[in-house]
Amino acid sequence: PGRDGLGAYLEKPDSYPSSVVVYHNSDFVTIHDMFPKSSLHLLLLPRDQTKNRLHPFEAFEDAEFLEKVRTEVHKLRKLAAAELRRRYGQDSAQEQARHAALNADPPPDELPDGRDWDKEIMCGIHAVPSMSHLHVHVISVDRHSEKLKHRKHYNSFATPFFVPIEDFPLAPDDERRHPTRQGYLKRDFTCWRCEKQFGNRFTELKKHLEEEFEEWKKL
Ligand code: 5GP
Ligand code: ZN
Repeated sequence: PGRDGLGAYLEKPDSYPSSVVVYHNSDFVTIHDMFPKSSLHLLLLPRDQTKNRLHPFEAFEDAEFLEKVRTEVHKLRKLAAAELRRRYGQDSAQEQARHAALNADPPPDELPDGRDWDKEIMCGIHAVPSMSHLHVHVISVDRHSEKLKHRKHYNSFATPFFVPIEDFPLAPDDERRHPTRQGYLKRDFTCWRCEKQFGNRFTELKKHLEEEFEEWKKL
């Protein structure tokens, strides 16, 4: 285990239940994060052995590889969005409005759109990964998790320490190439949803995140 812990999933994806390995194909293995930092937190692991021990900044310099990963991430974002709809759809005001319109008599000419759950998923990497095998986080925005226990857990997804896959390739002078110099993980807490400031008050932030989670589901 330790830094190499994700290697086991790449070697024997078949030996895990679907509660651990979501799916695998010849190029990727997708797993549930064992210490999820949101209500839905998946990891996409590329299997290409010429790439998957590189730092993501280096691996994604290869345009063809980046495109391949992007395509799979896109697929996974859809899958994750469908899962959020399944879980929280009944709670969402937009989904309720759509449902009501569908069942109206007579039905309207145009149905309102349901909620776009795609927008509630973030896909990207950490500027300084802790695990050595290349992985892309596919994580819902809510940060609702009992496993979110330390300030770095929060800030690693709420500051530029988290680099969205859409931002690649990075410009040579992109400041995120020097994450330690930037001190992202030590920044004051900012709520991901309302941007309220919490200084370094983690307990207060956690309480606020619970309230935001309830509101977010109902949007
Ligand atoms: P990083 O900070 O390297 O981008 O994130 C690594 C992620 O891997 C973390 O979110 C962590 O919770 C997760 N993780 C660490 N060890 C394991 C493991 O053995 N199995 C699974 N499924 N996830 C792990
Ligand atoms: Zn807030």
